[in-house]
Amino acid sequence: MQNLAAWPKRDDLYSYLDNLLLKNIEQNPRIAVFILNLDNFRELCELFGYRNIEEYLAQVGKIIRDACPINSYAAWLGSDEFAVVIPETTTEQAQLTAAKICQNVTQPIVFYERRTYITVSIGYVVAPEDAHDRYEMLKNATIAMNWVKKHGKNGFTRYEPTMSEQVNRKLTLVNDFSVALADNQFFLQYQPQVNVSTGAIIGAEALLRWHHPRLGLIPPLEFIPLAEETGYIHSIGEWVLRNACRDFSSWLKAGLMLERLAVNVSIIQLQKHDFAQRLLKILDEAELDPAYLELEITEGQTIDLPQVRPQIEQLRNHGVRFAIDDFGTGFASLNHLRYMGFDTIKIDKAYIHNIITNNRDQVIVNSIMNMATLLQLGLIAEGVETYDQWQYIRQTSIKEVQGYYCSPPVDKEKFELLAAGESCR
Ligand code: C2E
Ligand code: CA
Ligand code: CA
Repeated sequence: MQNLAAWPKRDDLYSYLDNLLLKNIEQNPRIAVFILNLDNFRELCELFGYRNIEEYLAQVGKIIRDACPINSYAAWLGSDEFAVVIPETTTEQAQLTAAKICQNVTQPIVFYERRTYITVSIGYVVAPEDAHDRYEMLKNATIAMNWVKKHGKNGFTRYEPTMSEQVNRKLTLVNDFSVALADNQFFLQYQPQVNVSTGAIIGAEALLRWHHPRLGLIPPLEFIPLAEETGYIHSIGEWVLRNACRDFSSWLKAGLMLERLAVNVSIIQLQKHDFAQRLLKILDEAELDPAYLELEITEGQTIDLPQVRPQIEQLRNHGVRFAIDDFGTGFASLNHLRYMGFDTIKIDKAYIHNIITNNRDQVIVNSIMNMATLLQLGLIAEGVETYDQWQYIRQTSIKEVQGYYCSPPVDKEKFELLAAGESCR
């Protein structure tokens, strides 16, 4: 088997592609370029203690090359990344080759008497349709490869222009975060939390909005994950807390009878060692009793709770409460949550959506209610949209709801008017 050191490298690939493009100007056949990246490479390195890993890669490289047409050119780009060029091909052959590489790599590989399993993510372009020069070929094939990584790995896909649009939009948003904070492009809306037996508004959940000057309103579900990935969540999250506490404090001072300000926080924010301290300062500056504040953490992030327990404890000691959001979508056990210091469960809107007709959802909501009662946890039902759902919840032990039936999230001024009214329903 050929040693990895003897494989063509990135520079060799560049010259090969440049030559190929020069030669092909007149004949203009299709060229396919693949970027291949192994999926669970780091685990393998750990398995072999980083010894002999190049030997292993050479074995995978051979499997890749053997799955390609005889006229293909293969290069090793370093670490667990390879490239393959088929100089004269068709779109069908390119696709079949990608499928064959995936299939062959997935077979168990015996290495030093050990059976190992590895998979590969492949992105490819077919030129001239998908790319015009060497730069575009590699860039677009890499974009397609990353798309596969993000959508489950172990597979292949051909580049599509919409993938670039997505990447560009993501880059734009990330670039614009810091300006957005400085230019006040963020604003908050508040959704009423309503007592189901009286119809009174008892609290507000702060929901973040971004009005981008060029792209318009960006949904939080699009930009929050990017802010988490890039670390901007710390400054944006602090902005949310500061403004929500100020608004809420002014409502109390104006005489509104409210019990709770709910604010969403990402577990990444809690990972900062001074999160609790900074939040207590914000509360102090806003002259807001910490007992009004309830921080919501989505169930999907509760796996990392043990690491942030000291922050949670410090805040709880000052009276701040914690709610588990979107309950029923992740894997947290209620008992574990009680132990971690949660006070409230927010039942995910997916369960409320079909609560009237779906027996299974009724059973799940019932068992959440029973557990919550036993563990003395508060319950809020989210996403109540219809009169029937409202009536159904009224018959249960759930005391509070949020949803379009009462009110969608509204601007600060509108919330004040709603909360000053007699009841929401
Ligand atoms: P979430 O915390 O579960 O917020 C509830 C979402 O449900 C909000 O979407 C709200 O507009 C929507 N909603 C309210 N009532 C109804 C209803 O009756 N039916 C339906 N179908 N939807 C309803 P939104 O504002 O788009 O927020 C989406 C998510 O973004 C939030 O989900 C939360 O996870 C996240 N998010 C929002 N603001 C912040 C923030 O300041 N910090 C963090 N970390 N996350 C935030
Ligand atoms: Ca929430
Ligand atoms: Ca929720």
